[in-house]
Amino acid sequence: MTQVIRTSAELREKVATWKRSGMLVGVVPTMGALHDGHLSLVREARKQSDRVIVTIFVNPMQFNNKDDLEKYPRDEDHDLALLEAEGVDVLFAPGVHEVYPDGFATVVAVSGVSEPLEGAFRPGHFEGVATVVMKLFGMTQAGRAFFGEKDWQQVQVVKRMVEDLNVPIRIIPCPTIREEDGLAMSSRNVRLSPEHRALAPRLHAEMQAAAAAIRAGAPVTTTLEAAKAAIGAAGFGAWDYLDLRSAEGLRPITELSEPARILAAVHLGDVRLIDNIAV
Ligand code: AMP
Repeated sequence: MTQVIRTSAELREKVATWKRSGMLVGVVPTMGALHDGHLSLVREARKQSDRVIVTIFVNPMQFNNKDDLEKYPRDEDHDLALLEAEGVDVLFAPGVHEVYPDGFATVVAVSGVSEPLEGAFRPGHFEGVATVVMKLFGMTQAGRAFFGEKDWQQVQVVKRMVEDLNVPIRIIPCPTIREEDGLAMSSRNVRLSPEHRALAPRLHAEMQAAAAAIRAGAPVTTTLEAAKAAIGAAGFGAWDYLDLRSAEGLRPITELSEPARILAAVHLGDVRLIDNIAV
């Protein structure tokens, strides 16, 4: 049975009993509307921890767009059934007031790695992420936290924060889970129209083609411009970015002298798709 907990006080008691018997606690932070990408993190958490907490909290602080927050899919009953089937011990699903009570006044801001890409196009997003993740780490007292590489920059921001603030938790990045046609799974995909859903995998396909070309020695800038043009011509909306970056620091690079990734964000209808792959 998965126990649903809504207050940090109750969660703290639960975790304290586990820790007294020497158990390693793993946490998987999510915003719900769970899919196989989330469940892959849960399975990894089960493998690497004695007890698993999944958190579901649609964090208003990390949404820079009110419409996106309102339209964010929510289905806790279905999520709970999925978590039961995975043998999750606790679903921690606090209300907004539990996380941000009156008088709440602290922001965790990670500079550097949070600034380009998502940080540039979603002002305040990573402050919201870092703040809520820090709080979830405090509330769950977990020893390991599992994050998806789907949100590559988020993983880098969280790792930086944990190192800088001496948070006693190990961050475990997990690979991106994709639909059979290559589209990275995302809770927002359900909002794609049928035509846009059919088009969406082109993003990953063009990114892969660009990565292969760059690996084979093609010039970076023209290759990325060509990929952008192809995706635009296919019927996608506006680009936020399609960049080659160093994998760790996310510095812009024009040569493959270190581990690198292509990261992209593009609009399709009123959904914003993000993806990233190793080059
Ligand atoms: P979200 O609910 O979108 O905030 O995501 C919660 C966690 O699941 C984050 O660590 C995401 O990176 C991860 N995640 C989301 N989609 C995927 C995916 N397709 N593959 C792997 N992890 C994912």
